[in-house]
Amino acid sequence: MDMTPHEHLLDYDPDRMLQHFATIGEPTFRAKQVLEWIYEKSAPSLDAMTNLSKPLRQKLADRFDLFTSTIIRRAASKDGTVKLLLQWPDGATSECVMIPSEERKTACISSQVGCPVGCRFCASGLDGVQRNLTPGQIIEQVLRVRVEAELAGGRLSNVVFMGLGEPLANYDNVTRAVRTINAPWGCNIGARKITISTVGLPKQIRKLAEEGLQLNLALSLHAPSDTLRAELIPWAEKISLGELTMACRYYFEKTGREITLEYILLHEVNDRQPHAAQLAKFAKNFRCNVNLIRYNPVEGLPYDRPTSEATASFQKYLREHGVNSHVRTSRGLDIDAACGQLRRKEMQAANAPVQITLPPTE
Ligand code: SF4
Repeated sequence: MDMTPHEHLLDYDPDRMLQHFATIGEPTFRAKQVLEWIYEKSAPSLDAMTNLSKPLRQKLADRFDLFTSTIIRRAASKDGTVKLLLQWPDGATSECVMIPSEERKTACISSQVGCPVGCRFCASGLDGVQRNLTPGQIIEQVLRVRVEAELAGGRLSNVVFMGLGEPLANYDNVTRAVRTINAPWGCNIGARKITISTVGLPKQIRKLAEEGLQLNLALSLHAPSDTLRAELIPWAEKISLGELTMACRYYFEKTGREITLEYILLHEVNDRQPHAAQLAKFAKNFRCNVNLIRYNPVEGLPYDRPTSEATASFQKYLREHGVNSHVRTSRGLDIDAACGQLRRKEMQAANAPVQITLPPTE
């Protein structure tokens, strides 16, 4: 009996796939057919690839798995947002979300199991990181969410790396997955519709600028000064705003893509006018726009939601000082859509005899 561990078919790009088919003595057009089944025809299994002979399907099934995760929770929000909790063969779990709006259907996906950054205001950061997700596991999340977009009567149009994990700390796997998500033979999603959200690793931002991809870059800023940033984001202790400015400028020069600054407003921590003034000054360093996000309190953490007045006057200040800014609406609040919350509940449930009640899935 062949004891070779199964491989993840989604880890194979056309070159590897062609090579494999040549090795097993199959014509190379079969490799193309398999790619079409996966990415164009959304085949749910190897068995569904009906223009391949049964013996070939069996040969592939002996070596590969197409999907390797199990959907252990599916939570659907009243606003149409659907969140999936996936479990991988090693028991690790990841979240991915389908966020619908009138003009687009967005997949919000994770790049790591857990998150190593440890932002003080984030529940997920408390648990640390377990491991990187592989390219195939990242792509699998997109394919799972694509099915949800189709069930909601649309087509997946955007992908954002805003789930769990720091994408640039898993650089090689993330960029390999991005190439498949972007490729015409793959998920065929334009680079301008793919966003990498990072806490800001200057070296990797420069490297990404040189990939020849026009990805959107979102910098999780959250504080307009080095001191406050280091208080909120432990990783920021070693990364100054000066270094980030240089890296973001470089990114803009190389790609022509405006940077998005993500800024979570925390009541009386970073939502006052002096903060807005510092942020406005910082934002003048390169071409960018600012996304303001009102914090949703997490039980056990000492941060509160900013008032509507403070949010409005913060945004007004930025606009009056020439900074393009928007207040982002929170989606899927009834299903724990903030990053990592569903996974966290599941982990807590596994550790304690607590009954978790999730909203109905239909
Ligand atoms: Fe990680 Fe994002 Fe949470 Fe920070 S806010 S700890 S980067 S998941």
